[in-house]
Amino acid sequence: MLFTIRCLDCGHAAPFMPRSMQCPNCGSQWREAEYNLQAVAQSFPAELQNRPFNLWRYRELLPIYEPNPTLYLGEGGTPLIKAANLGNMLGLPNLYIKDERQGPTSSFKDRQAAVTIAALKEGGVTEMVAASTGNVAIALSAYAARAGIKLWAFVTSLVPGVKMREIALYGSQVVKITGSYDQAKQVAAEFARQRGLYQDMGARTVTAVEAMKTIAFEIAEQLTMMEGAPPRSTANAPKWRTPDWYIQAVSGGMGPVGVYKGFRELKQLGMTERIPALAPIQAEGCAPMVDGWKKGMEKAEPVLSPNTRIETLATGDPGRTYTLLRKQVIETNGVFESVSDDDAFRAMHVLAKLEGISAEPAAAAAFAGLFKLVRTGAIKPTDTVVVNCTGHTLPAEQFLFDENWTRDVDYPSVMAQSNTPEEGLLAALNNVTPNRFSRIAIVDDSPDARRLIRRILQSQGDFEIVEASNGNEAIELVSRERPDIVILDLMMPEVDGFAVLDALRSKPETTNIPIIVATAKELTVSEKSRLQGQIQALMQKGDFLNDDFLDEVRSLIQ
Ligand SMILES: *Cc1c(COP(=O)(O)O)cnc(C)c1O
Ligand SMILES: [Zn+2]
Repeated sequence: MLFTIRCLDCGHAAPFMPRSMQCPNCGSQWREAEYNLQAVAQSFPAELQNRPFNLWRYRELLPIYEPNPTLYLGEGGTPLIKAANLGNMLGLPNLYIKDERQGPTSSFKDRQAAVTIAALKEGGVTEMVAASTGNVAIALSAYAARAGIKLWAFVTSLVPGVKMREIALYGSQVVKITGSYDQAKQVAAEFARQRGLYQDMGARTVTAVEAMKTIAFEIAEQLTMMEGAPPRSTANAPKWRTPDWYIQAVSGGMGPVGVYKGFRELKQLGMTERIPALAPIQAEGCAPMVDGWKKGMEKAEPVLSPNTRIETLATGDPGRTYTLLRKQVIETNGVFESVSDDDAFRAMHVLAKLEGISAEPAAAAAFAGLFKLVRTGAIKPTDTVVVNCTGHTLPAEQFLFDENWTRDVDYPSVMAQSNTPEEGLLAALNNVTPNRFSRIAIVDDSPDARRLIRRILQSQGDFEIVEASNGNEAIELVSRERPDIVILDLMMPEVDGFAVLDALRSKPETTNIPIIVATAKELTVSEKSRLQGQIQALMQKGDFLNDDFLDEVRSLIQ
């Protein structure tokens, strides 16, 4: 046998019984799977070559006696995506996104559900109870449907209706609790006790933590595929890469606890050299872990009434998981951080517009956290960073957009009012775009930077964009095209931004064109005074993340 279940309190080791919820010796619910890593090390790396890239590829390190292919839905094996645009914006060339939206039910809870339901099926369970902020219940429901297990899903009334319907669609019984998530858990526990049913125990569920490890295994394997073997790799030394950071939005914290254990086991197996710094991100309105962290406390004070619109992140009482996770964050030199709901929504927009990735607000919170950690300097430009894009189980939510997000053409009525079809079409399309676009010149020697600024402008409005890649070209272009506004980089070889500025200001035809300086450079006092009165706005490259940049552009164009 390759694994046993070790009690974290009394140290007792027992065989795994999927239905049993506590240590047979002391009754503790805090247990962990422990593998015979020496035995695993002999078979595991070699076996991998012949296995498909999905969660079961790491079966020696999962607490399942016999993986059951009849339950598979294609769990795990999600892509690791290089985020070039976002990385460029943040000055992080090695930024990666683990795209957990691409699992069978569109969140990383697929992993937890796949392993948990497989174990419960092995254990003969036919009916179970789970409390959920939405996504766990969706994932468990899908796998429970395949396994022939009836699920009672206790969710709070704040869980979006689309998620509740998804749970019901899979044949689970949705029980809607008006109250907090922690209260829903209490009701679920009492229901399970009265009925004698198995209850999912969140982060204390051995299979859930074990399933999350596969995220770490995949990241290490994928980074190695994408960046090559680590520098010091030899026949007997580490073969796989690890990132410097693992960033994830957390509610109960099971994800990072599992990911940590995954990286720890890889290190113990000699497959990697170290464990990445963990950065768990919480929503400001429900951030008991971040508060505990900032106060240096080993136990988190529960948040009794969470105040966040991101229900997925509304675990008010992380209990002992925080204490565990805190140790791991300290050990890895990581950090806990919180972000506001609005930051998360903004990040959701940025991620979609720059990387083509539509995430749900909970997942976007991790990206808002990333932005914050880059700004505070916790994350360095040379760091390799992986952000878990934990899910997108929703269609884009309506509250993200104000009224005018579509441009509407009423084809029959336009046609009725015109003499010819051509005239009608022209009239219709005038509704779609104005006749003249504001013209913007982007001056930057880096093609990546130009592409980024173009993308930001393009995704938010109608502009005609012209570009110059050096100072001389810029002076010539601006004199010829007379743009409505110039976005100017300072650091360019030969004729730099300061020289361009002087040239434009000295000619009557360009002297009044508004100029926004965009720079990645920390300006000295004397540089700042050179800009004084000459430009309309100064933007640090990171400022592009907030809406001020576009507001500035719009106001200057008017
Ligand atoms: C569950 C969930 C989280 C929080 O994960 P934990 O590790 O359990 O705290 C974050 N994002 C999404 C999309 C989730 O479904
Ligand atoms: Zn015990």
